[in-house]
Amino acid sequence: MLKRLLFLGPGGFVLLVVVVLGRALTASSSQPPITPLTVAEVDADAVAERLAQSVRFKTIAAPAGQTFEPAPFDAFHAWIDTTYPAVTSGLRREVVAGHSLLYTWKGLDSSLPPLLLLAHQDAVPVEDSTLPDWEQPPFDGVIDDGWIWGRGTLDDKVSMLAILEAVESLWKEGVQPQRTVMLAFGHDEEVSGQGAKAISELLGQRGIKPMMILDEGLVVTHGIVPGLEQPAALVGLAEKGYLSVEMTVAGAGGHSSMPPPHTAVGILAEAVTRLEANPLPAHMEGPMAEMLATLGPEMDFGNKIVFRNLWLLGGIVQGKLEASYSTNAAIRTTTAVTMFDGGVKENVLPQEARAVVNFRIFPGDTIEDILRHVEDSVDDSRVKLKPLGGISGNPPPVSTMDSEGWAVLTSTVRQAFPDAVVAPGMSVAATDARMYAGLSDSIYRFSPIRLHKDRGDTGRIHGTNERVGVENYAEAVRFYAQLISNAAAAE
Ligand SMILES: [Zn+2]
Repeated sequence: MLKRLLFLGPGGFVLLVVVVLGRALTASSSQPPITPLTVAEVDADAVAERLAQSVRFKTIAAPAGQTFEPAPFDAFHAWIDTTYPAVTSGLRREVVAGHSLLYTWKGLDSSLPPLLLLAHQDAVPVEDSTLPDWEQPPFDGVIDDGWIWGRGTLDDKVSMLAILEAVESLWKEGVQPQRTVMLAFGHDEEVSGQGAKAISELLGQRGIKPMMILDEGLVVTHGIVPGLEQPAALVGLAEKGYLSVEMTVAGAGGHSSMPPPHTAVGILAEAVTRLEANPLPAHMEGPMAEMLATLGPEMDFGNKIVFRNLWLLGGIVQGKLEASYSTNAAIRTTTAVTMFDGGVKENVLPQEARAVVNFRIFPGDTIEDILRHVEDSVDDSRVKLKPLGGISGNPPPVSTMDSEGWAVLTSTVRQAFPDAVVAPGMSVAATDARMYAGLSDSIYRFSPIRLHKDRGDTGRIHGTNERVGVENYAEAVRFYAQLISNAAAAE
């Protein structure tokens, strides 16, 4: 495109500059207006103390094959019952799939579709070898210097407890929602377990179609989006799917003194090389494009020129995104060769070589597309392909930005985080939300936490020194209270 326009001569070039600058100058913000919060102030120290207490329950989910330890979950449930008396007495509580919890706060108007808020009770374990690196022990629930420390403070007790605090405080204020509010807290999200699936099936059987489902996911980023000075509150419309493919090559075996030119290992290595050299296509449409279109007008002028002129500069932007692993993962199905083995002895020809390739599927691509891509790329009938089962699945549908749910959520984000701009995005990690696909076209992924690049906060999720700010946690509580209040009032 650029070349063709330059061929038009000086007149064409001037026209091009006028169009490009014109588009940048006319970029208009699509941000919802900022309105003041209407829900009650939060006692930051009191809510922080309760989040710290919740960290002390070692609610670790057991991966398949390991024994689930129910005692911490039972103790955690008993603690919730006494710590949040209004929730306990005012909401209907159901236990699903052993230890998942479903709460229902009945609205005054049963004809309105409910609001469904999700979070998970379980946290990932802490490896013993990392314990000396923790500034505070991960399960002691320490509050120090404005931070609440411990496993689960970012993922995902922060959301679960903030939701409970929000409901408790609204109830005590005498709020009666028009719309039913449901809370679903799975107990095995981190091991892709059964809790969320069981709750979703139960809601499906009851014919419940929420106006909006909100789960954990993207966050308020500080210094993470290049070209943007303000914090960005990113709300996931989508998440990626998952597939692993096993590739095997059979060999004749025998002594290595008289080998064929290629052993099973050599043939498989070539197949892997061809697959890695042929990545799946990039997608400059979908959630990533929506994010760029929304954030573009909020950026400095140089970046505005770029993001308002993707019709011309899209190729350059795509190249930039592909250059970093994290942004590359946001625009395509990724290919990761994760396992490779073959052969048993140095002087014996291998009888089999085996590799496993893990794909994270971009919304729009499907498992069938990927299997065809692998077959075409490898293009060798000696390499046998087999999709592995387990947690594989196509990406759930991309949620709509054209709904009451989206409007209520994004305007609430602006109320609670007025310093941030709000934009759609995509989660590259899997969440429980995918289990609810089909119940609503407005399923969003957002955690009301602030992550700062210069503090290394993203590495704290599932990592060492997980912590959340006391002030940020108070913001999170008010965010959920305001969301419930706004959604319950919306028609
Ligand atoms: Zn999580």
